[in-house]
Amino acid sequence: MSSNDSTAKEQSFLFNVNKIFLVIHLLMLFMFSSLGVDLMAGVSLISICFYFLAFSLTKSEKLSIYVYSVAVEILLHMILAVVCLGIQCNFQLFLIDAMFFLFAMDYVVLRKKKKNHVAILICCVYAIALIILYMLDGFYTPLYKLDSVVIKSISIAMISCVVFLIIICMMCLLHFMSSEEGAMEKQAQFDALMELPNRFYMMAKLKNLFEADKQGEYFLAMIDIDDFKKINDSFGHNVGDDALKMLARTIVNKARGVELSYCRWGGEEFLLLGKCVDGEVPKNFLDELRVEINSKSFWTSKGSGRMTVTIGAGKYKVGQDYKEWINFVDKQLYVGKCTGKNKVVC
Ligand code: GH3
Ligand code: MG
Ligand code: MG
Repeated sequence: MSSNDSTAKEQSFLFNVNKIFLVIHLLMLFMFSSLGVDLMAGVSLISICFYFLAFSLTKSEKLSIYVYSVAVEILLHMILAVVCLGIQCNFQLFLIDAMFFLFAMDYVVLRKKKKNHVAILICCVYAIALIILYMLDGFYTPLYKLDSVVIKSISIAMISCVVFLIIICMMCLLHFMSSEEGAMEKQAQFDALMELPNRFYMMAKLKNLFEADKQGEYFLAMIDIDDFKKINDSFGHNVGDDALKMLARTIVNKARGVELSYCRWGGEEFLLLGKCVDGEVPKNFLDELRVEINSKSFWTSKGSGRMTVTIGAGKYKVGQDYKEWINFVDKQLYVGKCTGKNKVVC
């Protein structure tokens, strides 16, 4: 996954988060207006304008500025709500939500900045603000006096809201983490130079195959370029790389429409996994592939070059584990190398 892709994902994530904040503040505007708490209604209106403008921040690449400005908005809004209506309404608990929000954002957006402690610092400010608000309780009178039943209702609504938002926050974080994990797993199983799956992909594939389908008849084929070192030594590593890519493309094309998995096993070796034909390793198919590889040219400083490959193949034998199976085809390959190369041994 490219960094542009991940930024687009983060931008759309924050865009949705911003929508949630906007809805919450619209509800607050409605609540404060109906209770006649004009000051907080005004503050909510300003916050709504802020969240409208913040959409443009989520679209730009300044995502950390978005996170920090939201963090400050939440702090100011909650302090003002407590000053207006007192601690009993539980607005201050939103600061706990904001801590979860910041830690989630710390993972989603800010983790790319190494040694970034701003989120932790803001959380400390929240914690201090919370403690101070509770300590000051009783020493000041809220600006607006509400009926005790109304206070109780607001308090219950706020607690429910806070719990709900914590759950949403954690769900988003888990979702984000698991999709990141999936992307990383894919990356770890892919050879970027060959644009082909790598050895770890094939190992996982073989493990799964052994768990799911012990009855099926499968073959493995190890392909190794003959005298590849000479190609590198004569024409340089870049030409060697081109030859490898050409071989990879030939395998991919040959696998079209056939049930065949493939990977770069390592260096100049490629491993194929496919279903047997009539219960046997499809020698003709592998021989065709060998001939096709030899028919393709790669370009060198001294004109076009060609390569040959040796292929060692073997059918799965009941009782074998997949490592023994791979060792077997490796031995078949060795037999091919020792008996003249440019051949299929199965
Ligand atoms: P054989 O016919 O016995 O297989 O001989 P060989 O020369 O192909 O085998 P050997 O194991 O002696 O050499 C393999 C060479 O493959 C050595 C290494 O430099 C080269 N090689 C491995 N990976 C890459 C790669 O990604 N790019 C390039 N250009 N060369 C690579
Ligand atoms: Mg080799
Ligand atoms: Mg070789």
